[in-house]
Amino acid sequence: MKKLFVLSLAVGLSAIFSTGALAATKYVTIGTGGVTGVYYPTGGAISKMVNKKRDEYGIRATVESTGGSVFNVNAIMSGDLEFGVVQSDRQYQAYNGTADWDGKPQKDLRAVFSIHPESVTIVAADESGIKEVADFKGKIINIGNPGSGQRGNAMDLLEAAGLDPEKDFQAEGLKAAESAGMLQDGRIDAFFYTVGHPNGSVKEAVAGTRKVRFVEIKDETVKKLTDKFSYYAPASIPVSMYPGVANEEDAKTFGVKATFVTRADVPDDVVYAIVKEVFDNFDEFKKLHPAYQILTKESMLQGLSAPIHPGAMKYYKEAGLL
Ligand code: GLU
Repeated sequence: MKKLFVLSLAVGLSAIFSTGALAATKYVTIGTGGVTGVYYPTGGAISKMVNKKRDEYGIRATVESTGGSVFNVNAIMSGDLEFGVVQSDRQYQAYNGTADWDGKPQKDLRAVFSIHPESVTIVAADESGIKEVADFKGKIINIGNPGSGQRGNAMDLLEAAGLDPEKDFQAEGLKAAESAGMLQDGRIDAFFYTVGHPNGSVKEAVAGTRKVRFVEIKDETVKKLTDKFSYYAPASIPVSMYPGVANEEDAKTFGVKATFVTRADVPDDVVYAIVKEVFDNFDEFKKLHPAYQILTKESMLQGLSAPIHPGAMKYYKEAGLL
């Protein structure tokens, strides 16, 4: 009996050591956004795909809730995170050294793939009377925390619409996860969120006693923005996803894409494993969030402006996608 136990223990240990799983688990952290957004469940979906094969790859991915795109880029570059979900406009700006990275191009930033579309969403209390951007005058508007992606989109929109956040209204810098509660408490009149739909934050805002509406952006303003910035595209917010919202039709706005990024020195085999698990099990991945419904493998290779990480490139070539 004792002999048998020793034998099976030896077999078990040698199995563990031969796969190297125990000896060399690689821990990677994915930066996301607020827990009521789409980035947080997206980090969860990606980590779920790769963690399933922990014995094969020896990778353990964990997810961190963060302040959003700008925070994620900076934390990846400083080595605090290995991966992050980042707006496509932010990826472009960071790599090329514009906006928050003015004169400081982040040349080690690497693209992995694109994910869901995100629209610049402005949720306003119906009773505030805000129907368009010009109605912001004299109101309290949350344009987003400095680490967020939406703050830059808000600033670009305000400039295109001819509004000055320092003079025309009171601008707040709250995190997205706090916005719905603050709107319902009457402490802000509207908030910006660049986000995929449906999401928990907008659902929370719509479910409150204060009726809310999506603020529409005029065609001419959208045109100004898409003409000036190649990373913006016209978009609309589907009202059918939010029963009870004041809008009767889908709200016109502009948008970007969520993308998955990393750093040049993150090992090729780690990036390869993540990409392989997401793409080889694509139908399963797509079921993990309703915002992924329209994804195709091809669409996930569009909207990238930093160079594609070699570990991801290896998979795309093998799969005939590039
Ligand atoms: N786009 C937002 C940002 O970059 C986050 C959206 C989300 O968490 O789904 O800050």
